[in-house]
Amino acid sequence: MNIILVSNSTARTRSISLPLVLLIIGLLSLLPALLVWALIVPHGTHQHKGIPTSIHFVSASEQAHIDALAQQVGEMEARVLRLDALGARLSNLAGVKGADADALPPGRGGPMVDARTMSGVELEKHIHALTQSIELNGDKLSLLEATMLQQRLKASTLPSTMPTVVAYNSSSYGWRVDPFSGKEAFHEGLDFVADSGTPIYASAAGIVTAAEQTPDYGRIVKINHGSGLETRYAHASQLLVKAGERVERGQLIARVGSTGRSTGAHLHFEVRLNGAALDPRKYLQSAN
Ligand SMILES: [Zn+2]
Repeated sequence: MNIILVSNSTARTRSISLPLVLLIIGLLSLLPALLVWALIVPHGTHQHKGIPTSIHFVSASEQAHIDALAQQVGEMEARVLRLDALGARLSNLAGVKGADADALPPGRGGPMVDARTMSGVELEKHIHALTQSIELNGDKLSLLEATMLQQRLKASTLPSTMPTVVAYNSSSYGWRVDPFSGKEAFHEGLDFVADSGTPIYASAAGIVTAAEQTPDYGRIVKINHGSGLETRYAHASQLLVKAGERVERGQLIARVGSTGRSTGAHLHFEVRLNGAALDPRKYLQSAN
């Protein structure tokens, strides 16, 4: 798939982003079929002669296998939901209406192997490949989203200034094993590991909408940059601004700490558009 960076022209934006939206819809349309394969197709070749087909005996190992598949399918559903939301936001940004997207024909093709002959191993391969494909397309789409947003917003309101002096943990945004629950979960921010007391700076100008303590985020500052854009700075040891205050890009607003749901001193930094988490790396990189 080619991504062509678009001009400010609404017409060109629409013509370029539509194939991407189509691609998401195509990918998503494969999901129901996969769910059916995972949940309905019998795994293994055991057939008990003389026993009505409505009764299907599964061994403990088969059941464990099915359970593992069901868990994978559940994780895929969560990923697809996020991709779906991203696709909807992209459609809005590109001026493609939701109704038009719904009216588009469903995607065709794909690895359509006869489900009856498919073994559990094959099914797993398909699920794995689809998951990778969805992730790849999600990456491309979030990059396109960032590009389009940058064209829309004034440079002064984009959160492109590094919020602290240390480098971020690049793998911290996205799917990872949650250190508290031990389960895979989507981590919606970028972590900057820094000593307690390290300065935290506003990554763009804006209005402070919250400077408070919450159970999960600990001491947190939220800044509204307009156009639905918000940045969050969490787990601080000290808050240096108050709600309602106007802050400039690069202004000292808090100090790094480990308050709330945190395993050690670090800054948890989020960029949100109308409440949905964006990949902060796409915006911080744009400053360079
Ligand atoms: Zn974090």
